[in-house]
Amino acid sequence: MSQPGVPASGGPQPGLQAQNGAPSASGSPYANGPVQNALMSSHMSVSQGYNSQLPGSYPHLIPAKTSSPLSAQSNYGGSQGSGQTFHRPPVALNPMTPSLHSGPVPRMPLPNSQNPAAAPMPSGSFLPGANPPPPSNWQYNYPSTGSQQTNSCPPGAQPPVSGNTNLTTNQQYVSSGASSHQNSFIKSGPALPSRNPPLPTPFQPGAPPGPPPAGGPPVRAPAPQKLSHTASPQPLFHSAVNQEATSQLTNKNPKMNRSVGYAYPSLPPGYQNTTPPSGTGMPPSSLNYPSGPQAFTQTPLGANHLTASMSGLSLHPEGLRVINLLQERNMLPSTPLKPPVPNLHGDIQKLNCNPELFRCTLTSIPQTQALLNKAKLPLGLLLHPFKDLVQLPVVTSNTIVRCRSCRTYINPFVSFLDQRRWKCNLCYRVNDVPEEFMYNPLTRVYGEPHRRPEVQNATIEFMAPSEYMLRPPQPPVYLFAFDVSHNAVETGYLNSVCQSLLDNLDLLPGNTRTKIGFITFDSTIHFYSLQEGLSQPQMLIVSDIEDVFVPMPENLLVNLNESKELVQDLLKTLPQMFTKTLETQSALGPALQAAFKLMSPTGGRMSVFQTQLPTLGVGALKPREEPNQRSSAKEIHLTPSTDFYKKLALDCSGQQVAVDLFLLSGQYSDLASLGCISRYSAGSVYYYPSYHHQHNPVQVQKLQKELQRYLTRKIGFEAVMRIRCTKGLSIHTFHGNFFVRSTDLLSLPNVNPDAGYAVQMSVEENLTDTQLVSFQSALLYTSSKGERRIRVHTLCLPVVATLNEIFLGADVQAISGLLANMAVDRSVTASLSDARDALVNAVIDSLAAYRSLVLSNQQPGLMVPFSLRLFPLFVLALLKQKSFQTGTNARLDERIFAMCQVKNQPLVHLMLTTHPSLYRVDNLSDEGALNINDRTIPQPPILQLSVEKLSRDGAFLLDAGSVLMLWIGKNCAQNFLNHVLGVQNYASIPQPMTDLPELDTPESARTIAFISWLREQRPFFPVLYVIRDESPMKASFLQNMVEDRTESALSYYEFLLHIQQQVNK
Ligand SMILES: [Zn+2]
Repeated sequence: MSQPGVPASGGPQPGLQAQNGAPSASGSPYANGPVQNALMSSHMSVSQGYNSQLPGSYPHLIPAKTSSPLSAQSNYGGSQGSGQTFHRPPVALNPMTPSLHSGPVPRMPLPNSQNPAAAPMPSGSFLPGANPPPPSNWQYNYPSTGSQQTNSCPPGAQPPVSGNTNLTTNQQYVSSGASSHQNSFIKSGPALPSRNPPLPTPFQPGAPPGPPPAGGPPVRAPAPQKLSHTASPQPLFHSAVNQEATSQLTNKNPKMNRSVGYAYPSLPPGYQNTTPPSGTGMPPSSLNYPSGPQAFTQTPLGANHLTASMSGLSLHPEGLRVINLLQERNMLPSTPLKPPVPNLHGDIQKLNCNPELFRCTLTSIPQTQALLNKAKLPLGLLLHPFKDLVQLPVVTSNTIVRCRSCRTYINPFVSFLDQRRWKCNLCYRVNDVPEEFMYNPLTRVYGEPHRRPEVQNATIEFMAPSEYMLRPPQPPVYLFAFDVSHNAVETGYLNSVCQSLLDNLDLLPGNTRTKIGFITFDSTIHFYSLQEGLSQPQMLIVSDIEDVFVPMPENLLVNLNESKELVQDLLKTLPQMFTKTLETQSALGPALQAAFKLMSPTGGRMSVFQTQLPTLGVGALKPREEPNQRSSAKEIHLTPSTDFYKKLALDCSGQQVAVDLFLLSGQYSDLASLGCISRYSAGSVYYYPSYHHQHNPVQVQKLQKELQRYLTRKIGFEAVMRIRCTKGLSIHTFHGNFFVRSTDLLSLPNVNPDAGYAVQMSVEENLTDTQLVSFQSALLYTSSKGERRIRVHTLCLPVVATLNEIFLGADVQAISGLLANMAVDRSVTASLSDARDALVNAVIDSLAAYRSLVLSNQQPGLMVPFSLRLFPLFVLALLKQKSFQTGTNARLDERIFAMCQVKNQPLVHLMLTTHPSLYRVDNLSDEGALNINDRTIPQPPILQLSVEKLSRDGAFLLDAGSVLMLWIGKNCAQNFLNHVLGVQNYASIPQPMTDLPELDTPESARTIAFISWLREQRPFFPVLYVIRDESPMKASFLQNMVEDRTESALSYYEFLLHIQQQVNK
């Protein structure tokens, strides 16, 4: 437990999901009502085809029915070649009509949406598996699904493990695929095709369920008993909980010691010998991993067991309902929406990966691509692989057990053929169990490999032995680059940032090897020598920005411990050093080059603060935002205007440097170009529009809080992430910030706990002989303590043969999140309107498929499966999200930033940004409240996002992820004004108001408890705006009412009518 940094903390408390029984608001009539036909008439011509209009100037760049590999793996930087700027012909402004689209419509890139065999189509849809050859400009390895080796392992990246690998394989075992007994682990839900689960057949001593492999390991005599075994090296297992479990185990469970010889049911090991789920079992979203003695009680799997394990799972009758959305319009649950639980046997499911870390758009995987195509739903994974965890089992072992063939890490979903052999759940290769793995550090018993932590935890971290290192682990290196031009000094940001650094200097993740350095720049570049022994920092100015060199590099990145006083001196004086500057130019590009040179030998994290458009040297940019075209869905500059930032980012990636960009600017700064520096180097973008230390106190507070998180959160250096999946499935498109090094390997110079990723997949070979498939992500990184570690997540899902089952298991949040990622790519490779159309068509196509292929009797209305009841709402919310909205004055940089967020955020945050939660808070009560550490946290019901739910006598809190807005109605009760806001009357609510006073009243305590609780659940601090009715902020608040009609967008009801018309055609 003394392992530094091992069990990460700071994540949300497990099991805190709102559970209040508040009734959901019943379906009351819509404020907007049905629309006139005139509004909808123009949409009747929407075709089912793919013949969308190409932006005329570069049709050759738009892949036909194929996701652009460049945009696919590289975000929305997309289709642009190296350095070319495409100026589209001017186009008339979009009329501000509430129109979805008209004319031929492109489809969302659903895998093989229509006819997989069709000849290449014009732009508008994508075939996963049929990527065009990559442009030659960039040296990428594109995912080519045709010959993809998801199991390839480039030398050095994940080299072979040592240990027992002298396996002799018997082909009979390899080719056998999933054995029939796995059937029993697919939960048979009421409406599913009946699966008759045969019970597992226990191994009989001396009678293994198949021929032993020729020349296989000798039959082992009963293993040494009890705790006395010391023959094999004892792996360390770092987990307080599990250590505790160990002692309890050995004391209380005498059964443990009988596990010798062949007493193995022929089951995948993770889910045998486990207790049936009980009422107090792990909730699916809890971050508690199953551990402790109760998990090892020997309970035979029987019929009763099956029944017991099905209780409380997702497919209760409600889940089987077919809903007419035009009749039941209020489908929004009053508590946060939970991800669907895969239709697996409870004993498997309880070992499954937490959906907050790893989830799939379809929790039931279609057995063929043809079936997937029919469903017209996207298949993909959403990952939050480095999330802060309350509990994380960490294993130190000389031997990391992996499949000899595909390099999969042993996991709960492999099967043990006997004590000595396990079958890979990804490639079905039979592997030997290494000697060391026979000892279970948890129970301290020899001969129970199936109870090792590696096979009891879907999420686990390994301490990597030396063969996982290309070089000695790098030290933590932090370089800060500050814009100190006149514009930057005017914003006053340097004070905040330097103070924040001073406050958190000792909390930077690291060790005695931590290095730090600083660069400032305006029209020249300034370095700071912080060499130990100097009496004060020395400033070195380099004015040649054409050919940047780094003076005295050894004194510029210094050991933080040894030079701490100098660093502190510098941080104290820096804000004053440039107060008189008249220099308005910004040589950002040359400064980045200098910073890159400085960091190249070690790698590390570069934090760049920029306040304006770079104007000097390489990477200089020109303004190209045209305010009168902001509202247009076309003709906006979403692509970079130069490839300088992307190229530099790739250089950085090659040297293990990630660049985080903090943009604090009131003016257009071309984030579409600048953002590339972070996107391809696996950094992040932070944006503070109109930052000013006096005029914009909310931004000051936000920057300060976010910097605190940024500086102190966990960080992984020189990381790579690989995603593997069961044979037959294939990965074809990645979303997020990274560089794709090979088909399934992402290069992540830094990895942080707030980054999310998405992956599109297809079914390459039929899975007809397969009952279960697995996905495994493995993140290899260097911790800030200099340890090489591997974090592994494994997700197991059932394979199904019918459309109905696919729809029943659809995960609407994951689907919406993946579609959002695809739509960002689409906005860049085609156009914004193209992307919007594709989003709408994703709903139409899937619901039309459901109607025509699943529903037997054609009823009027808009019939949807329960699982997709929120699909139209979430897509409408996406259309109104800053990334994709039209008809507003969204500034270009703000739109680009929203797109960056879509790509880089974990799903849970993306969904909150897209469809915020609305609560009434002027009548909070303790009814149904949570109790956490003696705190009572009210749980008001979530309301629909419509002004209809607001009332002037109330106060309403909108939680949009990164921002909280508290709107106070004009006739809000005096009690709330006095006891929560601390003001005498409505008029005296100060504006702006960004904090609630802590008053000695129960109302104040409840409100503050609730807001604090919301804030605690996310890594970054959402600022609070208290909004009076006449405040200019009210418009921002109302913009989030996604169910309402706006000047340029349909109401939810209108949208449903539109969908219905298209679906029922
Ligand atoms: Zn394998």
